[in-house]
Amino acid sequence: MAIIIDGKKTAQEIRAKLKIRVEKLREKGITPGLSVTLVGENAASKVYVSSKDAAAREIGMSSWTHKFPSDVSEIELREHLRCQNSDPAVHGILLQLPLPSHLPEEHLLNLIAAEKDVDGFHPVSLGNLMLGRPGFKPCTPWGVQVLLNRYGISTRGKHVVIVGRSNIVGKPLANLFMQKGEGADATVTVCHSATPDLAQFTRQADIVVAAIGCAEFIRGDMVKDGVVVVDVGINRVEDSSSPKGYRLCGDVHFSSVEPKASAITPVPGGVGPMTIAMLLANTVWSAESKTGISGPIDLF
Ligand code: NAD
Repeated sequence: MAIIIDGKKTAQEIRAKLKIRVEKLREKGITPGLSVTLVGENAASKVYVSSKDAAAREIGMSSWTHKFPSDVSEIELREHLRCQNSDPAVHGILLQLPLPSHLPEEHLLNLIAAEKDVDGFHPVSLGNLMLGRPGFKPCTPWGVQVLLNRYGISTRGKHVVIVGRSNIVGKPLANLFMQKGEGADATVTVCHSATPDLAQFTRQADIVVAAIGCAEFIRGDMVKDGVVVVDVGINRVEDSSSPKGYRLCGDVHFSSVEPKASAITPVPGGVGPMTIAMLLANTVWSAESKTGISGPIDLF
């Protein structure tokens, strides 16, 4: 039977560590502050934003959610982001995606000051990541790395196959795993929608990461015995037996993959909770850098 990698419990442990660091900062008169901007009425985004807000407050941070209607102008949003950039109480700025189609997502993300880019999506953060320099790491990929490490699953010398090449998951995760050092040193293959015969790659993997956005796509016959499986996907599938009319599932077909795996993340309760924990970690680190405490936070 596979070890079920408990992201909820691991995220709780990380938040407890961060709470201590926040207390130390507050003793020095600094309260780490997270500014979240939410545009429109996307139901999933509202849930994510309120979870981030609650998690930040729970560990003693300040958190502000700035809500804008879906027809907000680009000019107004730019001005708002500029104010957040210059507010000394704000150590981290997050622009919740997706944005309504009239707003240029990439352009607005690039307006966020690189030193407050706690989502880790700014080109400066991604450049530092690629070069193996300290900087904000994108939260979901970093969460995957920390989760494996805290379960004692080494990536050193392992063949990691990542399915998905998005800028927020697949590409940064490949960069994290291919760096030198702890939690990395892997041989990485990135597969995507144009990869022919995907299973020939996933069957070679010691570790498979699924970040596809396609419900239960990776099935048992696509992985080898003893594989470690990380399921980043979050998909809603219709389910008339559920009061909500849907259930959440990942990109991995759990019931056929789990019997072959040595360890696997569930959905929900796997990677998802780690994403918020790493957002808090980036914000605490940002506040610490203002006090002269430098160096990345060691969460392994
Ligand atoms: P995306 O749509 O930006 O990228 C999906 C990737 O999958 C693409 O690179 C594409 O090439 C690849 N792909 C699509 N179809 C494929 C196929 N048939 N074969 C091989 N590759 C294929 O998605 P994303 O933003 O990277 O998110 C991926 C999933 O992870 C989604 O379910 C999303 O909801 C979830 N997600 C979860 C978290 C979290 O906190 N757990 C965070 C971000 C994203």
